[in-house]
Amino acid sequence: MSKTILITGAAGFLGSHLCDRFISEGFKVLGMDNFITGDKDNIQHLFDHQNFHFIEHDVTVHIDIDEPIDYILHFASPASPIDYLKIPIQTLKVGSLGTHNLLGLAKSKKARILIASTSEVYGDPLVHPQSEDYFGNVNSIGPRGVYDEAKRFQEAITMAYHRFHGLETRIARIFNTYGPRMRLNDGRVIPAFMGQALRGEDLSVFGEGTQTRSFCYVDDLVEGIYRLLFSDYSNPVNLGNPDEITIIEFANEILKLTNSDQKIIFKSLPEDDPLKRQPDITLAKKLLNWSTKISRKEGMKMTFNYFQNLSDEKLTKIDHKDFSKHIKQ
Ligand code: NAD
Ligand code: UDP
Repeated sequence: MSKTILITGAAGFLGSHLCDRFISEGFKVLGMDNFITGDKDNIQHLFDHQNFHFIEHDVTVHIDIDEPIDYILHFASPASPIDYLKIPIQTLKVGSLGTHNLLGLAKSKKARILIASTSEVYGDPLVHPQSEDYFGNVNSIGPRGVYDEAKRFQEAITMAYHRFHGLETRIARIFNTYGPRMRLNDGRVIPAFMGQALRGEDLSVFGEGTQTRSFCYVDDLVEGIYRLLFSDYSNPVNLGNPDEITIIEFANEILKLTNSDQKIIFKSLPEDDPLKRQPDITLAKKLLNWSTKISRKEGMKMTFNYFQNLSDEKLTKIDHKDFSKHIKQ
Protein backbone atom coordinates (compact mmCIF):
# COMPACT_ATOMS: atom_id res chain seq x y z
CA MET A 1 0.00 0.00 0.00
CA SER A 2 1.26 3.49 -0.74
CA LYS A 3 2.65 5.62 2.09
CA THR A 4 0.88 8.82 3.13
CA ILE A 5 2.62 12.17 3.44
CA LEU A 6 1.14 15.41 4.80
CA ILE A 7 2.61 18.54 3.17
CA THR A 8 1.82 21.89 4.79
CA GLY A 9 2.15 25.05 2.70
CA ALA A 10 1.00 22.89 -0.23
CA ALA A 11 -0.37 25.82 -2.27
CA GLY A 12 2.86 27.76 -1.94
CA PHE A 13 5.88 27.82 -4.21
CA LEU A 14 7.96 25.03 -2.64
CA GLY A 15 5.03 23.08 -1.18
CA SER A 16 3.36 22.69 -4.58
CA HIS A 17 6.55 21.35 -6.19
CA LEU A 18 6.95 18.91 -3.29
CA CYS A 19 3.35 17.72 -3.80
CA ASP A 20 4.19 17.02 -7.46
CA ARG A 21 7.32 15.10 -6.55
CA PHE A 22 5.68 12.88 -3.93
CA ILE A 23 2.67 12.20 -6.18
CA SER A 24 5.06 11.16 -8.94
CA GLU A 25 6.83 8.82 -6.50
CA GLY A 26 3.50 7.07 -5.79
CA PHE A 27 2.72 8.55 -2.36
CA LYS A 28 -0.73 9.50 -1.16
CA VAL A 29 -0.36 13.25 -0.57
CA LEU A 30 -2.46 15.25 1.87
CA GLY A 31 -1.88 18.92 1.01
CA MET A 32 -2.72 21.49 3.69
CA ASP A 33 -2.82 25.28 3.30
CA ASN A 34 -4.83 28.33 4.33
CA PHE A 35 -3.84 30.33 1.19
CA ILE A 36 -2.46 33.23 3.18
CA THR A 37 0.48 33.63 0.78
CA GLY A 38 -0.23 30.65 -1.51
CA ASP A 39 -2.25 30.27 -4.67
CA LYS A 40 -4.77 27.53 -5.57
CA ASP A 41 -3.50 27.66 -9.16
CA ASN A 42 -0.23 26.09 -8.00
CA ILE A 43 -2.03 22.82 -7.18
CA GLN A 44 -5.09 23.08 -9.43
CA HIS A 45 -3.66 20.32 -11.68
CA LEU A 46 -3.57 17.91 -8.71
CA PHE A 47 -7.18 18.24 -7.58
CA ASP A 48 -8.39 15.43 -9.86
CA HIS A 49 -5.54 13.09 -8.97
CA GLN A 50 -6.75 10.08 -6.97
CA ASN A 51 -3.72 10.23 -4.63
CA PHE A 52 -4.06 13.92 -3.80
CA HIS A 53 -6.34 15.28 -1.09
CA PHE A 54 -6.49 18.90 -0.11
CA ILE A 55 -7.36 20.20 3.35
CA GLU A 56 -7.90 23.94 3.75
CA HIS A 57 -6.70 24.61 7.29
CA ASP A 58 -4.62 27.05 9.31
CA VAL A 59 -1.88 24.93 10.94
CA THR A 60 -1.74 27.22 13.98
CA VAL A 61 -5.13 25.73 14.93
CA HIS A 62 -5.26 22.14 16.25
CA ILE A 63 -5.00 19.63 13.40
CA ASP A 64 -7.25 16.56 13.32
CA ILE A 65 -6.57 13.85 10.75
CA ASP A 66 -8.24 10.45 11.09
CA GLU A 67 -6.10 8.39 8.77
CA PRO A 68 -2.55 7.09 9.34
CA ILE A 69 0.30 9.38 8.26
CA ASP A 70 3.83 8.13 7.58
CA TYR A 71 5.63 11.42 6.82
CA ILE A 72 5.11 15.14 7.31
CA LEU A 73 6.79 18.02 5.49
CA HIS A 74 6.12 21.29 7.32
CA PHE A 75 6.54 24.06 4.74
CA ALA A 76 3.74 26.43 5.79
CA SER A 77 5.12 29.91 6.51
CA PRO A 78 5.30 33.25 4.78
CA ALA A 79 8.76 33.36 3.24
CA SER A 80 9.25 36.69 1.53
CA PRO A 81 10.26 39.80 3.50
CA ILE A 82 7.23 41.74 2.20
CA ASP A 83 4.91 38.97 3.38
CA TYR A 84 6.36 38.54 6.83
CA LEU A 85 6.59 42.26 7.44
CA LYS A 86 2.91 42.54 6.55
CA ILE A 87 1.79 39.57 8.70
CA PRO A 88 4.41 39.44 11.46
CA ILE A 89 2.28 37.75 14.11
CA GLN A 90 0.98 35.06 11.75
CA THR A 91 4.61 34.44 10.80
CA LEU A 92 5.62 33.95 14.42
CA LYS A 93 2.58 31.75 15.05
CA VAL A 94 3.07 29.41 12.12
CA GLY A 95 6.73 28.81 13.06
CA SER A 96 5.94 28.28 16.74
CA LEU A 97 2.32 27.15 17.38
CA GLY A 98 2.05 25.62 13.90
CA THR A 99 5.24 23.64 14.34
CA HIS A 100 4.11 22.52 17.81
CA ASN A 101 0.83 21.22 16.34
CA LEU A 102 2.65 19.35 13.59
CA LEU A 103 5.17 17.80 15.98
CA GLY A 104 2.26 16.67 18.18
CA LEU A 105 0.55 15.18 15.14
CA ALA A 106 3.77 13.43 14.09
CA LYS A 107 4.14 11.98 17.58
CA SER A 108 0.58 10.67 17.69
CA LYS A 109 0.89 9.15 14.19
CA LYS A 110 4.45 7.88 14.74
CA ALA A 111 5.33 9.79 11.58
CA ARG A 112 8.70 11.18 10.52
CA ILE A 113 8.67 14.97 10.15
CA LEU A 114 10.90 17.31 8.14
CA ILE A 115 10.70 21.02 8.82
CA ALA A 116 11.63 23.83 6.43
CA SER A 117 14.16 25.99 8.20
CA THR A 118 16.16 28.71 6.50
CA SER A 119 19.52 30.39 6.00
CA GLU A 120 17.93 33.27 7.93
CA VAL A 121 18.80 31.40 11.13
CA TYR A 122 22.35 32.63 10.37
CA GLY A 123 21.05 36.24 10.23
CA ASP A 124 23.62 38.69 8.86
CA PRO A 125 26.43 36.12 9.05
CA LEU A 126 29.88 36.83 10.41
CA VAL A 127 31.15 33.52 9.04
CA HIS A 128 31.39 32.92 5.30
CA PRO A 129 30.31 30.61 3.72
CA GLN A 130 27.81 29.45 6.34
CA SER A 131 28.14 25.92 7.68
CA GLU A 132 25.71 24.17 10.00
CA ASP A 133 27.90 24.66 13.10
CA TYR A 134 27.63 28.47 12.89
CA PHE A 135 25.15 29.82 15.49
CA GLY A 136 24.27 32.96 13.55
CA ASN A 137 23.99 36.70 14.06
CA VAL A 138 20.29 37.54 14.34
CA ASN A 139 18.64 40.74 15.56
CA SER A 140 15.68 39.33 17.47
CA ILE A 141 13.87 42.67 17.67
CA GLY A 142 14.46 43.92 14.13
CA PRO A 143 11.81 43.66 11.39
CA ARG A 144 13.16 40.33 10.11
CA GLY A 145 13.23 38.97 13.68
CA VAL A 146 9.64 37.70 13.32
CA TYR A 147 10.73 35.25 10.65
CA ASP A 148 14.23 34.48 11.88
CA GLU A 149 13.24 33.84 15.49
CA ALA A 150 10.16 31.82 14.50
CA LYS A 151 12.48 29.58 12.47
CA ARG A 152 15.03 29.35 15.29
CA PHE A 153 12.26 28.40 17.72
CA GLN A 154 11.05 25.87 15.14
CA GLU A 155 14.47 24.23 15.10
CA ALA A 156 14.66 24.24 18.91
CA ILE A 157 11.26 22.63 19.48
CA THR A 158 11.93 20.09 16.74
CA MET A 159 15.18 19.03 18.42
CA ALA A 160 13.35 18.89 21.79
CA TYR A 161 10.74 16.50 20.35
CA HIS A 162 13.54 14.44 18.88
CA ARG A 163 15.53 14.27 22.12
CA PHE A 164 12.68 14.06 24.61
CA HIS A 165 10.12 11.98 22.69
CA GLY A 166 12.46 10.14 20.32
CA LEU A 167 10.52 11.54 17.34
CA GLU A 168 12.11 11.04 13.92
CA THR A 169 12.87 14.59 12.78
CA ARG A 170 14.77 16.23 9.91
CA ILE A 171 15.73 19.91 9.58
CA ALA A 172 16.47 21.49 6.18
CA ARG A 173 18.18 24.89 6.25
CA ILE A 174 17.08 26.20 2.88
CA PHE A 175 18.98 28.99 1.12
CA ASN A 176 17.34 31.33 -1.46
CA THR A 177 15.41 29.08 -3.84
CA TYR A 178 13.57 30.22 -6.98
CA GLY A 179 11.58 28.90 -9.92
CA PRO A 180 8.15 28.71 -11.50
CA ARG A 181 5.13 29.33 -9.19
CA MET A 182 6.80 32.06 -7.14
CA ARG A 183 4.30 34.90 -6.74
CA LEU A 184 5.34 37.63 -9.14
CA ASN A 185 4.58 40.29 -6.56
CA ASP A 186 5.97 38.65 -3.46
CA GLY A 187 8.84 41.16 -3.32
CA ARG A 188 11.65 38.60 -3.44
CA VAL A 189 14.42 39.70 -5.74
CA ILE A 190 13.88 37.26 -8.63
CA PRO A 191 10.14 37.83 -9.17
CA ALA A 192 10.70 41.53 -8.42
CA PHE A 193 13.34 41.97 -11.15
CA MET A 194 11.55 39.72 -13.66
CA GLY A 195 8.23 41.49 -13.07
CA GLN A 196 9.89 44.86 -13.55
CA ALA A 197 11.54 43.69 -16.76
CA LEU A 198 8.23 42.36 -18.09
CA ARG A 199 6.35 45.55 -17.26
CA GLY A 200 9.07 47.73 -18.79
CA GLU A 201 10.06 49.28 -15.45
CA ASP A 202 13.52 50.03 -14.12
CA LEU A 203 15.05 47.39 -11.85
CA SER A 204 15.09 48.35 -8.17
CA VAL A 205 18.40 47.43 -6.52
CA PHE A 206 18.39 47.92 -2.76
CA GLY A 207 21.46 49.57 -1.24
CA GLU A 208 24.46 49.65 -3.54
CA GLY A 209 23.80 46.08 -4.63
CA THR A 210 27.06 44.83 -3.13
CA GLN A 211 25.20 42.37 -0.89
CA THR A 212 25.39 38.77 -2.13
CA ARG A 213 23.00 35.86 -2.44
CA SER A 214 23.33 32.31 -3.80
CA PHE A 215 20.30 31.15 -5.79
CA CYS A 216 19.14 27.52 -5.99
CA TYR A 217 16.73 26.23 -8.65
CA VAL A 218 13.63 24.58 -7.20
CA ASP A 219 14.19 21.11 -8.76
CA ASP A 220 17.60 20.84 -7.09
CA LEU A 221 16.09 21.82 -3.76
CA VAL A 222 13.23 19.30 -4.07
CA GLU A 223 15.77 16.53 -4.73
CA GLY A 224 17.71 17.58 -1.61
CA ILE A 225 14.56 17.57 0.53
CA TYR A 226 13.62 14.14 -0.80
CA ARG A 227 17.02 12.70 0.06
CA LEU A 228 17.13 14.35 3.48
CA LEU A 229 13.71 12.97 4.43
CA PHE A 230 14.89 9.43 3.73
CA SER A 231 18.28 9.88 5.41
CA ASP A 232 18.83 8.99 9.06
CA TYR A 233 20.27 12.36 10.11
CA SER A 234 18.39 14.57 12.57
CA ASN A 235 20.64 17.63 12.91
CA PRO A 236 20.18 20.58 10.49
CA VAL A 237 21.45 20.26 6.91
CA ASN A 238 22.12 23.21 4.57
CA LEU A 239 20.48 22.93 1.14
CA GLY A 240 21.30 25.56 -1.47
CA ASN A 241 23.42 26.44 -4.46
CA PRO A 242 26.86 27.80 -3.48
CA ASP A 243 27.15 29.92 -6.67
CA GLU A 244 27.27 33.38 -5.06
CA ILE A 245 26.59 36.68 -6.86
CA THR A 246 26.20 40.34 -5.88
CA ILE A 247 22.72 41.80 -6.38
CA ILE A 248 24.02 44.42 -8.81
CA GLU A 249 25.67 41.78 -11.00
CA PHE A 250 22.49 39.79 -10.78
CA ALA A 251 20.37 42.76 -11.92
CA ASN A 252 22.64 43.08 -14.96
CA GLU A 253 22.21 39.37 -15.72
CA ILE A 254 18.43 39.81 -15.62
CA LEU A 255 18.57 42.80 -17.98
CA LYS A 256 20.59 40.68 -20.40
CA LEU A 257 18.38 37.60 -20.08
CA THR A 258 15.18 39.59 -20.61
CA ASN A 259 16.72 41.65 -23.39
CA SER A 260 15.56 44.81 -21.64
CA ASP A 261 16.89 48.30 -22.13
CA GLN A 262 15.67 49.55 -18.76
CA LYS A 263 17.99 51.08 -16.19
CA ILE A 264 18.93 50.03 -12.69
CA ILE A 265 17.72 52.38 -9.98
CA PHE A 266 18.93 52.33 -6.39
CA LYS A 267 16.61 52.27 -3.38
CA SER A 268 17.47 52.20 0.31
CA LEU A 269 18.65 48.92 1.80
CA PRO A 270 16.01 47.36 4.10
CA GLU A 271 16.95 47.13 7.78
CA ASP A 272 19.01 44.03 8.69
CA ASP A 273 19.27 42.90 5.05
CA PRO A 274 22.13 40.34 5.24
CA LEU A 275 25.30 41.54 3.50
CA LYS A 276 26.31 38.11 2.30
CA ARG A 277 24.99 34.61 2.05
CA GLN A 278 26.47 31.42 0.65
CA PRO A 279 25.78 27.88 1.78
CA ASP A 280 28.55 25.49 2.71
CA ILE A 281 27.02 22.23 1.43
CA THR A 282 29.86 19.89 2.40
CA LEU A 283 27.55 18.03 4.79
CA ALA A 284 24.73 17.55 2.24
CA LYS A 285 27.24 16.30 -0.33
CA LYS A 286 28.64 13.71 2.06
CA LEU A 287 25.44 12.66 3.77
CA LEU A 288 23.00 12.75 0.85
CA ASN A 289 25.35 12.50 -2.11
CA TRP A 290 23.56 15.66 -3.24
CA SER A 291 24.68 18.79 -5.00
CA THR A 292 23.00 21.24 -7.34
CA LYS A 293 22.83 20.41 -11.04
CA ILE A 294 21.04 23.40 -12.57
CA SER A 295 23.07 26.53 -13.32
CA ARG A 296 21.74 30.00 -12.63
CA LYS A 297 21.62 30.63 -16.37
CA GLU A 298 19.42 27.59 -17.08
CA GLY A 299 17.23 28.09 -14.02
CA MET A 300 16.63 31.78 -14.69
CA LYS A 301 15.65 30.99 -18.29
CA MET A 302 13.02 28.45 -17.16
CA THR A 303 11.74 30.85 -14.50
CA PHE A 304 11.49 33.80 -16.88
CA ASN A 305 9.65 31.62 -19.35
CA TYR A 306 7.08 30.85 -16.63
CA PHE A 307 6.59 34.51 -15.72
CA GLN A 308 6.32 35.51 -19.39
CA ASN A 309 3.39 33.16 -19.81
CA LEU A 310 1.38 34.42 -16.83
CA SER A 311 -2.02 35.97 -17.43
CA ASP A 312 -2.23 39.77 -17.63
CA GLU A 313 -4.06 39.75 -14.33
CA LYS A 314 -1.07 38.18 -12.56
CA LEU A 315 1.37 40.45 -14.36
CA THR A 316 -0.19 43.63 -13.09
CA LYS A 317 1.68 45.42 -10.41
CA ILE A 318 0.13 44.70 -7.04
CA ASP A 319 2.59 45.23 -4.25
CA HIS A 320 0.87 43.12 -1.66
CA LYS A 321 -1.48 40.22 -1.62
CA ASP A 322 -4.70 41.07 0.19
CA PHE A 323 -4.15 39.32 3.49
CA SER A 324 -7.11 40.87 5.30
CA LYS A 325 -9.56 38.04 4.72
CA HIS A 326 -7.20 35.48 6.21
CA ILE A 327 -5.91 37.25 9.24
CA LYS A 328 -6.77 36.97 12.89
CA GLN A 329 -3.30 37.91 14.17
P1 NAD B 1 5.19 30.54 -0.05
O1 NAD B 1 4.71 31.77 0.60
O2 NAD B 1 5.08 30.43 -1.53
O3 NAD B 1 4.50 29.26 0.57
C1 NAD B 1 4.11 29.17 1.91
C2 NAD B 1 2.74 28.50 1.97
O4 NAD B 1 2.38 28.34 3.35
C3 NAD B 1 1.64 29.35 1.32
O5 NAD B 1 0.88 28.57 0.44
C4 NAD B 1 0.80 29.81 2.52
O6 NAD B 1 -0.54 30.06 2.18
C5 NAD B 1 1.00 28.68 3.50
N1 NAD B 1 0.78 29.05 4.90
C6 NAD B 1 1.35 30.08 5.58
N2 NAD B 1 0.88 30.11 6.85
C7 NAD B 1 0.01 29.07 6.97
C8 NAD B 1 -0.80 28.57 8.04
N3 NAD B 1 -0.82 29.16 9.24
N4 NAD B 1 -1.55 27.47 7.80
C9 NAD B 1 -1.54 26.86 6.60
N5 NAD B 1 -0.81 27.29 5.54
C10 NAD B 1 -0.05 28.39 5.74
O7 NAD B 1 6.72 30.35 0.40
P2 NAD B 1 7.83 29.30 -0.09
O8 NAD B 1 8.94 30.05 -0.71
O9 NAD B 1 7.20 28.18 -0.81
O10 NAD B 1 8.37 28.78 1.32
C11 NAD B 1 7.91 27.54 1.86
C12 NAD B 1 8.70 27.20 3.11
O11 NAD B 1 10.09 27.10 2.81
C13 NAD B 1 8.57 28.23 4.23
O12 NAD B 1 8.53 27.57 5.47
C14 NAD B 1 9.86 29.03 4.11
O13 NAD B 1 10.24 29.59 5.34
C15 NAD B 1 10.83 27.96 3.66
N6 NAD B 1 11.98 28.55 2.94
C16 NAD B 1 11.85 28.99 1.66
C17 NAD B 1 12.94 29.56 1.02
C18 NAD B 1 12.87 30.02 -0.42
O14 NAD B 1 13.87 30.57 -0.90
N7 NAD B 1 11.80 29.83 -1.14
C19 NAD B 1 14.15 29.70 1.70
C20 NAD B 1 14.23 29.28 3.02
C21 NAD B 1 13.14 28.68 3.63
N1 UDP C 1 16.51 43.12 -3.42
C1 UDP C 1 16.71 44.17 -4.31
N2 UDP C 1 15.63 44.65 -5.02
C2 UDP C 1 14.38 44.12 -4.90
C3 UDP C 1 14.18 43.03 -4.01
C4 UDP C 1 15.27 42.56 -3.28
O1 UDP C 1 17.83 44.67 -4.45
O2 UDP C 1 13.45 44.61 -5.58
C5 UDP C 1 17.66 42.61 -2.66
C6 UDP C 1 17.42 42.52 -1.16
O3 UDP C 1 17.77 43.75 -0.54
C7 UDP C 1 18.35 41.40 -0.76
C8 UDP C 1 18.39 40.48 -1.98
O4 UDP C 1 17.88 41.26 -3.07
O5 UDP C 1 19.65 41.88 -0.52
C9 UDP C 1 17.54 39.22 -1.85
O6 UDP C 1 16.27 39.63 -1.39
P1 UDP C 1 15.05 38.60 -1.20
O7 UDP C 1 13.90 39.39 -0.66
O8 UDP C 1 14.86 37.84 -2.45
O9 UDP C 1 15.56 37.53 -0.13
P2 UDP C 1 16.38 37.60 1.24
O10 UDP C 1 16.78 39.00 1.58
O11 UDP C 1 15.46 37.01 2.24
O12 UDP C 1 17.56 36.76 0.93
